[in-house]
Amino acid sequence: MTRPAGRVFCLAKNYAAHAREMHSEAPAAPVVFMKPASSLVPPGTRIRFPGHGTELHHEVEIVLRIGVGGRQISTEHALSHIDAVTVGLDLTLRDIQRDLKAAGLPWEVCKAFDQSAPVGEFLPITGPTDLDDIEFGCWVNGTVRQRGHTRNMIFPADVLVAHLSRIWTLEPGDLIFTGTPEGVGPLAAGDRIEVEASGIGEFTWEIAPAEPR
Ligand code: ZN
Repeated sequence: MTRPAGRVFCLAKNYAAHAREMHSEAPAAPVVFMKPASSLVPPGTRIRFPGHGTELHHEVEIVLRIGVGGRQISTEHALSHIDAVTVGLDLTLRDIQRDLKAAGLPWEVCKAFDQSAPVGEFLPITGPTDLDDIEFGCWVNGTVRQRGHTRNMIFPADVLVAHLSRIWTLEPGDLIFTGTPEGVGPLAAGDRIEVEASGIGEFTWEIAPAEPR
């Protein structure tokens, strides 16, 4: 049986063109942060615009699920630890992130808030699946905003699993958001956001107005 997600690992700056649009360098090693599993949102859910910021950005990302746990996993064996894949969104409050970055503070407030991780339905990996050959993107109110291809990841799936397993003992159900391609941009209340990945499916969420303060 599939275990519920325990942890949500996320990669920052794993696509060179996105690192450039954020005015930063491509990293020499994977840059990792986490969201709580409680930030996950299934498809079709209304997402409340977070009340503590103003610039809510979409970041469409391929999401991997760990099926077999382990530590010190080699890159050669890494792919056999992944049991499913989907596409999701790493929702980010960019205005808050700018302030946090400038002050050298941690990112949880801008990236790990409630409903910050909408995630599609997982496609089980049953045979050889080429995780380096997935085309994906996101659309807002029908207009394309981001398009990416997993071959452009700076650190591909096997390297990410191996890297994370040297720091944390990976467990079944752990998720890995693999980073976003270029084209991140703002969302507003009333927007309908759709993500799609080749061979995986398409999933939709709607942004609802912020809670009255
Ligand atoms: Zn991201």
